[in-house]
Amino acid sequence: MDLYTFCRELPKVELHAHLNGSLSKSTMMELQRYLADSGIRDETNAFTDEFVLGAGDTRTLSDCFQVFSIAHALTCTPEAIEIATCLTLQEFQADGCCYIELRSTPRNTPHMTKEQCVAAILQGIQKSSLQHPMESRLIISINRSSNKDEVEEIADLAIEFHRKQPELVVGIELSGNPTVGEFKMFVPALTRAKLAGLKITLHCGEVCNPKEILEMIEFRPDRIGHAICIHPKYGGTKEIWTALCKSSIPIEVCLTSNVNTKSVPSYDSHHFKLLYDAGLPIAISTDDKGVFATSLSQEYRICADTFNLSKAQIAQLARNACQFVFDTRIRNKIQEHVTEFMNKNNTAI
Ligand SMILES: [Zn+2]
Repeated sequence: MDLYTFCRELPKVELHAHLNGSLSKSTMMELQRYLADSGIRDETNAFTDEFVLGAGDTRTLSDCFQVFSIAHALTCTPEAIEIATCLTLQEFQADGCCYIELRSTPRNTPHMTKEQCVAAILQGIQKSSLQHPMESRLIISINRSSNKDEVEEIADLAIEFHRKQPELVVGIELSGNPTVGEFKMFVPALTRAKLAGLKITLHCGEVCNPKEILEMIEFRPDRIGHAICIHPKYGGTKEIWTALCKSSIPIEVCLTSNVNTKSVPSYDSHHFKLLYDAGLPIAISTDDKGVFATSLSQEYRICADTFNLSKAQIAQLARNACQFVFDTRIRNKIQEHVTEFMNKNNTAI
C-alpha cells in the first residue's frame, strides 16, 4: 500500500479543527447557493478565493484572522451552520477520520443568537451521525478578543450545553489572535467550565510570550494547540520547555497551518521533531483545512515524508492520539479500531 493510501485508510482522530476554517471550496459554494435561495444578502462571492492561504502566501498570522470574516459571512444563519457542519464532517469521514472534535466560537448575527448557533452545530453533528460511523463532538471556543462579559457568557453557554448533552459537548478552548488579550483574564471562566466537567484546550505558544506560556502550562489544561515558542530554539525558554516536558500535556500539532502562517519557516524546521524526539504526547491535526488547503491524511503524509517516519511510526502516532480525545468513554474503543488496522497491515510495533 502506498503512503498516500495508507494515510487515507489509517483510522485517525482530529482534535484541532475550527469549523469555519475547515470549510472547503465546495462547501462555501453550497453555502452561497443556500444564501441566494434564502434571499439573504451575500457579499462573499468576490473573495472566496482569498480564503485559501497557500505556502507562498505573503499574508502573516495576523492577516489570517481576517480571512475568517469570509467564512463568518457564509455561516450567518442556523441553517447555514448546520449545512457547513454536515458537509465538513462528511469530508473528514471520507478522509478516514474515525473521531473528530470540531470547535467553534458561538456568534450572534442578525439571523441567530449564540445559543441557536451552538444548537445548529449540534443538530448537524446528530444528523451526520445517522449517515456515517465517525464519532463527532463539539468544543466551544472562546475568542481572545472577547470582553469579560462575553467570555463569561460563552462559558455559561458551554456549561449549559454540556449539562444537557454531555455526550456531544465535551470541551472549551481559547483561540483567536494570540497578540490580543491576557491569559489570566480567561482563567475564572475556564476554571468554572473545568469544574462543570468540560475538558480544556488552549492555543499556546503561537507567539513568543514566555510568561503567558508558563501560566498556561501551570493551569494544567487537558491539551494545548501548536506549542511553537516553547523550546529555546523556537523563541521559548529552558524553564517553559522543562515545564512542558514534565507536564505530559498532549499537544495538537498542526504542521501546514504553522508553515503557511509563517509561524515556522518550513516543514523541515518544524518543532514536531523536537516534541517527537522528546517523547511528548502528540496529536497530528489540521487546524483549518479549508484555509490551508489540507486534510488530516495529508498532514500525516507530510509528517512521514518530512521526518522519515515509517508506516508503523505514523500508525503509532494515530493510535496514541486516541488516548487524548476528550470523550474519555470512547478512548479505548477507537484505539482498538486503529490497532486492528495496524495488525491487518502489519504495522504493529
Ligand atoms: Zn487553531
